[in-house]
Amino acid sequence: MGFVVSLEQPSVAVVGSDDRFPVRRIYCVGRNYLDHIRETAGADEREPPFFFQKPADALLPSGAEFPYPPQSENTHHEIELVVAIGKGGANIAPEDALDHVFGYGVGIDMTRRDQQAKAKEMRRPWEIGKAFDHSAPCSAIAPAAQTGHPQSARIWIAVDGEIRQDGNIDQQIWSVPDALSHLSGLYELCPGDLMFTGTPAGVGPIQAGNVLTGGIDGIGEIEISVV
Ligand code: MN
Repeated sequence: MGFVVSLEQPSVAVVGSDDRFPVRRIYCVGRNYLDHIRETAGADEREPPFFFQKPADALLPSGAEFPYPPQSENTHHEIELVVAIGKGGANIAPEDALDHVFGYGVGIDMTRRDQQAKAKEMRRPWEIGKAFDHSAPCSAIAPAAQTGHPQSARIWIAVDGEIRQDGNIDQQIWSVPDALSHLSGLYELCPGDLMFTGTPAGVGPIQAGNVLTGGIDGIGEIEISVV
């Protein structure tokens, strides 16, 4: 019987550098744009933010192929602003939160919507719907030292060239500082953590053969082929 003696450290590229950003954890904000809440769940719009995780090895770089996941016939794209943590901390105040941010990327929170719906119905965790293999495509991280901290920027995704989601990060219910503050009250944040910040309206199904292209103005773009 053998065993693995080393595992590859998941990481993402850094814009303008040969360095890579090693990834420790991937946190995701659930329901952070009103128009998306209204299109999916009819959930309470005033509740505090909630979070779920994806495994770090679910990362998929821009340009890669996304294998359509098993046990799903309704897998959706969710385009999201991704925050990369460069400095750790717990119980971070909103006014200090941006000091902890290394940079920003463009991610797709791939979701097995049928499995998520079943989990909701059965009051089970979202994990099977959200935290599957290759479920976290993410662009290179653009350092905030170059981009600044965006408060308003167009966020969009197209399927085979047709725009499906088209919003602005200023529509987030919980801004990046607010969401990081809440998250850091639940978990001690560490360098290498990513936070996907939720998606605007327009989520929808993908199929093998689709090419997904998305972006956030001033941050970057991502392209993924569904196979
Ligand atoms: Mn999401």
